[in-house]
Amino acid sequence: MTKITIAIDGYSSCGKSTIAKALAQKLNYSYIDTGAMYRSVTLYCLRNGIMDKKHHLDMDKLMKELENIVVDFKFNTHTKTSETYLNGENVEHDIRTMDVSNNVSKVSSIKEVREKMVALQREMGKHKAVVLDGRDIGSNVFPDAELKLFMTADPDVRAQRRMDEYSSHGQYFTKEEIKLNLNKRDYDDTHRKENPLTRAKDAIILDNSDLSKEDQLEFVLKLIADMQLTKDSVA
Ligand code: C5P
Repeated sequence: MTKITIAIDGYSSCGKSTIAKALAQKLNYSYIDTGAMYRSVTLYCLRNGIMDKKHHLDMDKLMKELENIVVDFKFNTHTKTSETYLNGENVEHDIRTMDVSNNVSKVSSIKEVREKMVALQREMGKHKAVVLDGRDIGSNVFPDAELKLFMTADPDVRAQRRMDEYSSHGQYFTKEEIKLNLNKRDYDDTHRKENPLTRAKDAIILDNSDLSKEDQLEFVLKLIADMQLTKDSVA
């Protein structure tokens, strides 16, 4: 079966990573969580006095330290998924806090940060057989990806999912607090100058409000099988 690049974009908490991880496991592909990369840079900024919790950012300091920020992924054979490392430390848990969520859109809007992350993503995905999820994968990082999905879901469903994710890590917020963060991030992500969140023209919309993980997986695997068939019939 031909190896392809799968680009999954969409708003916050639309279940992009759930389907991306399931696909990567099923197809034996690599999974690149590009949001985790921007979250890692944000965590670095918060920990190192580059940014305070009120979104004030010391740009000079960030530009000086950007080259020292190393983000990568390692595959965890127990959880069977890749985990995020910041300068050698596993930060998979620490990047999922509300503190990071509240500040990440500011950091991800910085041109130099995006250039560095996008270059890394292109390098990581250059051999195909990869699933990436984010905001600008199909429109900017891999515009030639063979399969592009744009995920959407009902705002209430999204907030509930994020609430469940936080509480599974012992963090408790009201649905209103979560909605506030999701709305603000979506607004910032779609309105920024550098590679804003946008649906690539050739992306297939997947609304998963009422779909189980299994339904979604089946839907996407069928898309891939149909693509391969079409390719074979043309060849
Ligand atoms: O996907 P996740 O919610 O973890 O992404 C966190 C943030 O990272 C987003 O709100 C967005 O600001 C940024 N991001 C981005 N481009 C991507 C992936 C994420 O700007 N490709």
